[in-house]
Amino acid sequence: MLNNKVVKMDCLFCKIVKGEMPAKKVYEDDSVIAFLDINPANPGHTLVVPKKHTETIADIEDSDLEKVIVVVKNIAKKLKDELDTAGLNIVQNNGKLAGQLVSHIHFHVIPRFAGDQVIITYQRAQVDENKMEEIRKKLTEEAAPAPKDLDLDF
Ligand SMILES: [Zn+2]
Repeated sequence: MLNNKVVKMDCLFCKIVKGEMPAKKVYEDDSVIAFLDINPANPGHTLVVPKKHTETIADIEDSDLEKVIVVVKNIAKKLKDELDTAGLNIVQNNGKLAGQLVSHIHFHVIPRFAGDQVIITYQRAQVDENKMEEIRKKLTEEAAPAPKDLDLDF
């Protein structure tokens, strides 16, 4: 049985989850917390965070991710309704290189307004056809079959 209350002592978001750091909470349930980003890209910029400490999208349990993404959707709808947004970005960074500043998985829900100063972009890379096909094959290879359940028939 997994402990749903896993926390990491030095983690900023775990401290917010435990109530040891203040946050402008906009939503909380048993598994998920959402609060306004202290350094927002725009007014209403909200972070949606699973309470259980995991670092990246590759680490989080599916069942926790499902709960988080539904809250992301609900926050997005709320921002649209209450702040009359013109658009919305959902940003989820994994790893320092990708801009993840707090090593506890989180989703940024960023409302957009006409004329705002938010820039979310990337340069298009040139990737040749052979490399594309090599990557496609890697991504579609069947995963190694899971080991069969041990048949402890004794
Ligand atoms: Zn944490």
